[in-house]
Amino acid sequence: MACPQCDLLHRVDEISVDSTARCARCGTVLFTPRSGAIERLVALAIASLVLMVVALTFPFLEMSAQGFSSHASVLDTITAFAGGFMAPLSLAIAGFIVFLPVLRLCAMIYALWPLIFDRPPAPGATAAFRLASNLKPWSMAEIFMIGVAVALVKMVGMATIVFGPAFWAFGFLVVFVTMIDVMMCERTIWRILDTR
Ligand SMILES: [Zn+2]
Repeated sequence: MACPQCDLLHRVDEISVDSTARCARCGTVLFTPRSGAIERLVALAIASLVLMVVALTFPFLEMSAQGFSSHASVLDTITAFAGGFMAPLSLAIAGFIVFLPVLRLCAMIYALWPLIFDRPPAPGATAAFRLASNLKPWSMAEIFMIGVAVALVKMVGMATIVFGPAFWAFGFLVVFVTMIDVMMCERTIWRILDTR
């Protein structure tokens, strides 16, 4: 196994659960099987899907200035560019912040769900888990939140801003997805999918 940081090659043995294999040269974590990790990953993925539904259906931001007020949902943001030559931008936003993250979470739940109950993997589980891994760089909900944060810093002096439920749902969604990425030990899951 090559260290993802410094490319040093290691010959790896199995290590016991709840211990960590690190690169001998730079100390980067190579893999770290954790007890109960799959249950937690599935729970976080389901919670993230629920939060995504909240983020899409509730108001995101409401702002008012000099008697005018306006509110926007995530769907408004996506459809804001739907007309004219900017339409591809709408598709890209919808894809990167909604469809691809949802597809990734669903693929992850599909692949991992049977493993919780010590059952053999569902048909196509390896393809689903590979899809979930490949979609990781394309799920950009957190990039969207950084964009929102930058816009808010610019607007906060000009208008009164009220955060809607969707804002907090999206914020927690970003935290949960980050927790999934931190807890996910892909090598361990591949081994379980392999052996079952
Ligand atoms: Zn290394």
